[in-house]
Amino acid sequence: MRDVIVIGAGGGGPVVAKELASRGLDVLLLEAGPRHRKPREQWTHFENDANNPLTGYFRLGPTDRSKPAWYREWPQNSFVWQLSGVGGTTQHFYGNYPRAYPGVFNDYTGDDAANYDRKHRFPFGYAEMVPYFEWVEATAPVMTAAMGTKDQVFFRGCETLGLPVQTTKTTTRASYRPQENAILQPGGNAARTSDPNLLVFPDATGCTMCGYCFQGCMQPINAPRNQFAKRSTDNSYVPMALTADVWAPGGKAVSLMTDAYATRIHTEEVGGVATARGVTWRHNGSGEEHREDARVVVMAGGCTENPRLWFNSGLPNPNGWVGRGYTDHFFDWLIGSFDSDTQSSKGPGSASRLDMPGFGGLENVGLPPALQAFSATLSDSGIRGEYENGRGSTGPWDGPAGRLIGPELKDLLQNGIDTLLNVLVITDDDVEAQNCVTLSSFPADENGPVPRVRFRHRNRTERTNRNREVMARKAAELLRGAGAKKVYRIDWAPLILHVQSSMRMGESEKNSVLDANAESRAVKGLFIADNSALANGLGGPNPTLTTQALATRTAEKIFQHYFDGEGWVGTETPVVSTDPAISRRLAQRGL
Ligand SMILES: Cc1cc2nc3c(=O)[nH]c(=O)nc-3n(C[C@H](O)[C@H](O)[C@H](O)COP(=O)(O)OP(=O)(O)OC[C@H]3O[C@@H](n4cnc5c(N)ncnc54)[C@H](O)[C@@H]3O)c2cc1C
Repeated sequence: MRDVIVIGAGGGGPVVAKELASRGLDVLLLEAGPRHRKPREQWTHFENDANNPLTGYFRLGPTDRSKPAWYREWPQNSFVWQLSGVGGTTQHFYGNYPRAYPGVFNDYTGDDAANYDRKHRFPFGYAEMVPYFEWVEATAPVMTAAMGTKDQVFFRGCETLGLPVQTTKTTTRASYRPQENAILQPGGNAARTSDPNLLVFPDATGCTMCGYCFQGCMQPINAPRNQFAKRSTDNSYVPMALTADVWAPGGKAVSLMTDAYATRIHTEEVGGVATARGVTWRHNGSGEEHREDARVVVMAGGCTENPRLWFNSGLPNPNGWVGRGYTDHFFDWLIGSFDSDTQSSKGPGSASRLDMPGFGGLENVGLPPALQAFSATLSDSGIRGEYENGRGSTGPWDGPAGRLIGPELKDLLQNGIDTLLNVLVITDDDVEAQNCVTLSSFPADENGPVPRVRFRHRNRTERTNRNREVMARKAAELLRGAGAKKVYRIDWAPLILHVQSSMRMGESEKNSVLDANAESRAVKGLFIADNSALANGLGGPNPTLTTQALATRTAEKIFQHYFDGEGWVGTETPVVSTDPAISRRLAQRGL
């Protein structure tokens, strides 16, 4: 019997695996998708090769790309962008690591407290989270973003809005700032040249400003895996988990199984209480099923797959909240076109942001060309100008909101993507029971009934709709202030890049799945350690730092309550994931 089985090697799972393995526990980490051991041979900067949701190397599917991707039902105009594989969706991510706003925790007493989703707060205070934020910020590590021309343009716009610059990691007021991100700052030749011969480790370290964060980070050339610039978990926590026997005194390396799709969580009655006992998984290649048992099971399959696995395992759902409360930051997207060079496609994808606690945030996002075009065409208002009653059809943007196609799209792109500036609107959205994951009535796949993700777009709470409108207007004003000649609001259909809280922890047992320790209320010994455990949408900040801080706290709770261990956060110095001992051992093991 293992000590702990963790399901899912994305944003959250590897954190628990690494933390517990470094305390000497025997941890099995199961990942449904592939492990890209040699990114420089397996990945490219060709957008279709990377991002095609059916056949791309970044998709939700098994290693064998000749086999179909796994499907989900989403019965509305939307796209759920989640990946399988070691690193999970962090393989795509931009590494922005802002902390959750203090207003979403239950000790918040600020004057603007009423602006937040007060019915769905974290069941503990912000001060309790701070040491866990600090632990992850040191481990990942998190740094102030390297910036370039696009950020200068973004800040030029911010300056016209009369907001101050935020200089502390905790965001306390409406303000703008460089991103704090989990991307190593450029060193040596990096960011000084685009000559690939000079962008080779160790003469170049950290971010080379290539602009392809979306396609998976494999920079600089020849860098050991744990020194790749972007700290997706395949470059940070997973290398640490696999070498915990080297860098942690008394540590034990995590066992990682890939192409291993968990299809059932087993429980047994202990003292009349359902208690997690083990996991069955199916190997994608052979179709063989395996079962292993453990004292503790941790679900980290993401906001969509966790509810699916819960339902397919027949686990209890006494208050009906499994899969409910799916928050998505109700994104929107504005594009400004400029006469001058913005260098939108260069540098870390996103290096500057504006925060309005209680409403949400804005961030600059640079994209490669095909994704830039895609970003202009996913709308819930239809083709721009064709449907005059679209959301926000009037405002400080040009004409009605909507998708750009044909001559208008061509016009936008004709001067090249480096004359554009994109602003992502990240809405502080309410937890709503109606936005949820259930099982689909579509045919099951080889892993059982598939999930159905249901979102209401326009029919959100008044506060959520208000927040999105306030932030979209702010984005347009920012772009105008920065000098944009034209500003387009796309009114994005639900594009699910940030998802949170579908298995939420909460103050009340009436509307939460997890208690304040992230342990399931209905099944003992069963914890959740990914975005789905978050109590709410965090007020708008990107979720991964908070998920990883919470996962670190959850690992401590598991160690204390199930293995008689002691807490360590706040008393020890974290090891940084770029530690050379990790690089050496990865090389020795051919990893
Ligand atoms: C384009 C893009 C940009 C983003 N940028 C940012 C950013 O800058 N900052 C930020 O904070 N967030 C960002 N995000 C979001 C970020 O990627 C997520 O917050 C994070 O990956 C969530 O972690 P997770 O563990 O909840 O889920 P995931 O990372 O999706 O991981 C879940 C893992 O579990 C595996 N799995 C699922 N079911 C099973 C099963 N039954 N058995 C075994 N394994 C299973 C999956 O294959 C997957 O690998 C971005 C996302 C996208 C798409």
